[in-house]
Amino acid sequence: MNQLQALFGGTFDPVHYGHLKPVEALANQIGLSRVIIMPNNVPPHRAQPEASSQQRKKMVELAIADKPLFTLDERELRRDTPSYTAQTLQEWREEQGAQRQLAFIIGQDSLLTFPTWHHYESILDNCHLIVCRRPGYPLTMEQESHQQWLEAHLTTNPEDLHVLPAGRIYLAETPWFNISATLIRERLEHGEKCDDLLPESVMAYINEQGLYR
Ligand code: ATP
Repeated sequence: MNQLQALFGGTFDPVHYGHLKPVEALANQIGLSRVIIMPNNVPPHRAQPEASSQQRKKMVELAIADKPLFTLDERELRRDTPSYTAQTLQEWREEQGAQRQLAFIIGQDSLLTFPTWHHYESILDNCHLIVCRRPGYPLTMEQESHQQWLEAHLTTNPEDLHVLPAGRIYLAETPWFNISATLIRERLEHGEKCDDLLPESVMAYINEQGLYR
């Protein structure tokens, strides 16, 4: 039985096809039993999402309603303090046990900033890192030490993700989607259509709530 589960964190302000489609392709390519979408609680010193936590959660629920691959995890939204990915993955590992194969999914842009994340090295102690392609970002790190870190953990064999509980970085060959939540917010602000960028049910909710106007 396929045991590999993956967590997919982000702001999801709003969730869009650039989140969903690469991950669906990834699940087919490498075999993922479950992808858990986890909207984050944004730290006070960072730009706050335009939609509330409840609205971001609702949009994810609508987007995944007919997609059994995905589930939603509300743990970061329920906290009243911002949480670090390293801490959340430590908790998840404790819940799942030492042997379970776990992964964290990020886009290429997030790989570039990953070494600046709090306790980034400890994240790989608890999970694999799976990187989806995103247009406009290089696949090499700017700093030599970060590139060395990347190469030390890199695998080109997805089987490793199924055999080992954690510790590998896999650069997946997922399709490119030139979509960002920023682009969607900007388009809506200018009264432009976004129907090809996110699920219809999410768009209907955005209209109903008058979001991003
Ligand atoms: P914003 O434009 O508000 O910064 P975003 O579209 O980048 O938002 P996030 O919620 O910040 O979306 O992203 C969550 C995760 O999804 C990140 O790991 C990010 O790299 C990844 N991601 C977002 N859009 C894409 C895309 N088009 N292709 C691949 N990965 C993506």
